Amino acid sequence: MRLAPSPTGTLHIGTARTAVFNWLFARRQGGQFLLRIEDTDKERSKPEYTANILEGLQWLGLTWDGEPVVQSERIAEHRRAIEGLLASGQAYRCYATEAELAEMRERQAAENRAPRYDNRHRDLTPEQEQAFIAEGREATVRFRIDDDATITWSDLVRGEMRWSGADLGGDMVIARRAPADRIGDPLYNLVVVVDDAAMAITHVIRGEDHIANTAKQLLLYAALGAPAPVFAHTPLILNQEGRKLSKRDGVTSVSDFRAQGYTAEALANYMTLLGWSPPEGMGERFSLAEAAAVFDFERVNKAGARFDWDKLNWLNSQVLHGRSAAELLGDLQPLWTAQGWTAEASWLEQLCALLGPSLVTLQDGVEQARPFFERPEPNEPAQQQLASEGARPALAALLERLPEGPLSAEAAQALLTEAVAAAAVKKGVLMKSLRAALLGSLQGPDLLTTWLLLQPSGEARQRIARSL
Ligand code: GLU
Repeated sequence: MRLAPSPTGTLHIGTARTAVFNWLFARRQGGQFLLRIEDTDKERSKPEYTANILEGLQWLGLTWDGEPVVQSERIAEHRRAIEGLLASGQAYRCYATEAELAEMRERQAAENRAPRYDNRHRDLTPEQEQAFIAEGREATVRFRIDDDATITWSDLVRGEMRWSGADLGGDMVIARRAPADRIGDPLYNLVVVVDDAAMAITHVIRGEDHIANTAKQLLLYAALGAPAPVFAHTPLILNQEGRKLSKRDGVTSVSDFRAQGYTAEALANYMTLLGWSPPEGMGERFSLAEAAAVFDFERVNKAGARFDWDKLNWLNSQVLHGRSAAELLGDLQPLWTAQGWTAEASWLEQLCALLGPSLVTLQDGVEQARPFFERPEPNEPAQQQLASEGARPALAALLERLPEGPLSAEAAQALLTEAVAAAAVKKGVLMKSLRAALLGSLQGPDLLTTWLLLQPSGEARQRIARSL
């Protein structure tokens, strides 16, 4: 098994999901999960993207075996394979110019035919070749694809697959245009096959957008005399409209999900469900290790998998609600520190215990913690509450009795009872007003705990006083 990401962008959720299926299958089979960085597109590949991909996989727990293979370091090997194909006549140099090829495609379009290379330079005589070279023409290298070839494979997801050589667009370019005495940059289908064969890959698991490539690659395996791996083409991830999830859909990178406060556990869990149905009785919440124990391709759907935010949110909330306060602090503290928010560890942990049960994402843990670190301006409903009948006397009665320093829950309850009696208001009036005074909002976590957290620093007193 291998993942072969191109470092031309950040780790996309589709690539990460492919990584999940590779990882699960490798673990289930006791096989190896290898990583190959396909960085041969020099203009678009960037080291920061490689770093982002490695970091994202590690964060998700999709650990790979051994060192990542770097494709650009293997170019001599790719060239050797092309030389071999040229020597055996399975590939040849094509001298057609860009202009000639464009003209050919225009003619095909005008005749309503699918664009394909017409194999015009497949059988040049040595004299014709010499003439092109003398003209100073450059050449690509093309691999012969016979129109009457039939390519079949048994796909682990899609079953029996069958392609006709005639549907592959004519002889395929395997090396870019270069002076005719050289071999230009080797291209994707060729390098993938050379590398997968060298890495002894037994199973290629990748998105179904690669199906046509698989047909071409199988011809290359045969031509290179290498055994072909087993293929599994996984369904694509679709957006709400049922189209392939793309950058236009906003959050599509693993690092974006992370920045939005999704946990690695929930995201890995969710990606596993994108296209795979767990066996009866397993439920939808599981770890990667639990999924690996039962993963198989029989339960991978052929149809595209629609991205479902509600389910991801549900999974993430389940993960967060299952965290202890100390664990949650581990997640939230870096985010709070980034806001400039610090306090004693035990106080922070109590805040985590308070907020934990209502979190959907870790970002909620920032927003809901904000009024504990920054004095809030009361919102409209809170202002109305503070201006309503009984609010001021109730809060004033509480403030009069409020001691300095920390309070126990029992003492706080007793103070509330006394203040309610002294101000002759309903308890509800005091509770609502106290919430408005402390949090600037009528919504929020448990009121008593909120008060007790804001009490020791004197913040509770100041907020109540301010609201008066
Ligand atoms: N570098 C290719 C991609 O990112 C790899 C495809 C494959 O898995 O063979 O699409």
